[in-house]
Amino acid sequence: MRIFDPHIHMTSRTTDDYRAMYDAGVRALVEPSFWLGQPRTSPASFLDYFDSLLGWEPFRAAQHGIAHHCALALNPKEANDPRCTPVLDVLPRHLAKDGVVAVGEIGYDSMTPAEDTALAAQLQLAADHGLPALVHTPHRDKLTGLRRTIDVVRESALAPDRVLLDHLNETTVKEAADSGAWLGFSVYPDTKMDEARTVTILKEYGTGRVLVNSAADWGRSDPLKTRAVADAMLAAGFTDDDVDQVLWRNPVAFYGLSGRLHLDVPTPPDLHEGNSVRRGGE
Ligand SMILES: [Zn+2]
Repeated sequence: MRIFDPHIHMTSRTTDDYRAMYDAGVRALVEPSFWLGQPRTSPASFLDYFDSLLGWEPFRAAQHGIAHHCALALNPKEANDPRCTPVLDVLPRHLAKDGVVAVGEIGYDSMTPAEDTALAAQLQLAADHGLPALVHTPHRDKLTGLRRTIDVVRESALAPDRVLLDHLNETTVKEAADSGAWLGFSVYPDTKMDEARTVTILKEYGTGRVLVNSAADWGRSDPLKTRAVADAMLAAGFTDDDVDQVLWRNPVAFYGLSGRLHLDVPTPPDLHEGNSVRRGGE
C-alpha cells in the first residue's frame, strides 16, 4: 500500500513519526505552513520557517524514504496580526521555489475583514504562480465559514478545480462538492472526523475528488490516521484500487497541478543503529 499524506505538519513531529509513517506505507507528504502556537512578530520569522519547509524537512523526510513537499502562505490566524501581514510582499519569491506545490494553508479562522483580504490576495498569488491552493475551512461555525470561503474562491482568478477545501465534515461536504473543488478530510483521534465517518462519506460521495489527511501537528493528532482510513475502507468493502485512488492518486493529481511533484525518493539505508537523523553538512 502506498500512501500520500496531503496535509501534515512534520515540523512538530519526531523522527520516530517519520519511521512509523514509512512502515505504515507513507511515501509522500505535503507540509502546509501554519500557525506555530507562539505568535510570530515579524516577516523574518516566517522566512526562516519557509526555508525549513524547503530545506531541513525534505532532508529529514528523505532519510526515511518519504518525499516531502510544502505549501507556503500566511496562515489564517496570523493574517489578523499587522506585524505579520507584510510577509505577503515577500511570499511571491518563495512561491517560485521548486519544493512548493501549493499556496496554503489559507482560509478563515475567525472570519475577519483582515482574513478576507489575506485569502483573496493569496488565491490571486496561487493563480499568478500556476499553483493550486490548500484552503482550511474554519472549525467553528463551519457551514457559514464554508459558504464564505466558496464565495471568495468564486470571485478569485483561481478555478475551483485547483482548490482543495480541507477539514470538511458531514455538515459541509455537500456544498463543497457542489462548488467543484477537491474535498479534504482531516482525521483526528478524538475531534472532527474519524475514520468510520470518513468511510461513510466516501460511500456517499465516491472516491473521485477526495483526499484524506492526518493534519497531524503539535496538538492531539496521529500521523498514522491516513493508514487507519485505508484499513477502514478495505474493511468496509472498498477495493485496493479505491484505496490507492484516495490515498495516493488523488493527492498526486491535485498537487501535480503545480508541475513540481518529485516522488522518486530512494529507499532509506538502515538508520536503526547510530544516529537517528543525519545533520546537514555531514
Ligand atoms: Zn494544518
